[in-house]
Amino acid sequence: MKTTKFNIENLIRPTIKALKPYSSARDEFQGNSDAMVFLDANENPFENGVNRYPDPQQGSLKQILSEIKNIDTKNILLGNGSDEVLDLIFRAFCEPNKDNIIILPPTYGMYSVLANINAIGIKKVQLSNSFQPQVEAILDAVDDHSKILFLCSPNNPTGNSFSSQSIEKLLNKFNGIVAIDEAYIDFSEETSWIDRLEEFPNLIVTQTLSKAYGMAGIRLGMCYASAKIISVLNSIKPPYNVNELTQQKAIQQLSIKGLAKSQIHNILKERTNLISELESVSFISKIYPSDANFVLVKVDDAAKRYDQLINKGIVIRNRTTQPGCENCVRLTVGTPEENKILINTLKSI
Ligand SMILES: *Cc1c(COP(=O)(O)O)cnc(C)c1O
Repeated sequence: MKTTKFNIENLIRPTIKALKPYSSARDEFQGNSDAMVFLDANENPFENGVNRYPDPQQGSLKQILSEIKNIDTKNILLGNGSDEVLDLIFRAFCEPNKDNIIILPPTYGMYSVLANINAIGIKKVQLSNSFQPQVEAILDAVDDHSKILFLCSPNNPTGNSFSSQSIEKLLNKFNGIVAIDEAYIDFSEETSWIDRLEEFPNLIVTQTLSKAYGMAGIRLGMCYASAKIISVLNSIKPPYNVNELTQQKAIQQLSIKGLAKSQIHNILKERTNLISELESVSFISKIYPSDANFVLVKVDDAAKRYDQLINKGIVIRNRTTQPGCENCVRLTVGTPEENKILINTLKSI
């Protein structure tokens, strides 16, 4: 149980607390009878599959996710990618030109971009040499205006998961929102923190269909939190933020039993093969352990190796400018054929 006192009411921005949310036609009438005549939303009445506004609360999709993730639908909010979800979290809790967030570089770039867009300060506490959170230094960095602590686990671009003891300590000691970005959790042996939501009222977990679930193109991000936090985020989200095609495609793919599981299995098998092949590439000096569908490796000269691969038609990510990642590149695990091309090319340059 959380030991320190945490009061969500003190964290929500006053403007958001006072907000009267937009009420859409589909919010105000929520019957689901097919026999209804809908003349309330100024839609074009001729059927083409998308002539009607989508369900603003994504009921059917949330139902499926609720079963897959074993969590109540009232604890789920969906967004146009997790990037929208993250932006909603900023706008709910951070007062522009006053509040700050804490991030742990090297990490996902969107947290600081969103902070900059929203005029929110950024406190950086670098990860340790083994890319773990430095708990005491993080807690020392906290001030009265620190509203959100972002923990990305497994972390991008390093690939490792954060120690669960460290995460638990931060959840207990930090009185703001702890947002755990679990974009890569399905590739990891670690259990998701969504199982611990009832214990920690300050916990928000984000996930996505973009990685393990193979649907980066439809843009669907998930946010799991207390019913209270979800209702605050719901009050500020654009009414129809998840479009009809996205909802339909997600439902269709998620209904294929075992699909994601077998693809994840294959990707993890390929990751093992890829790592063992990388060990014999002469200019790779370090392969970092990965709980994700990518591997961070240290090379002799990241810019040179990046350019050489580009010339051979292979695009990787150069992460050398990230703190602690000098001369590191990030390699996504591809199909067996793609990985073979990568390995053969690395061995020939
Ligand atoms: C890829 C990724 C996401 C996914 O963002 P979407 O907007 O859902 O595609 C989120 N967080 C991290 C750390 C990522 O690497």
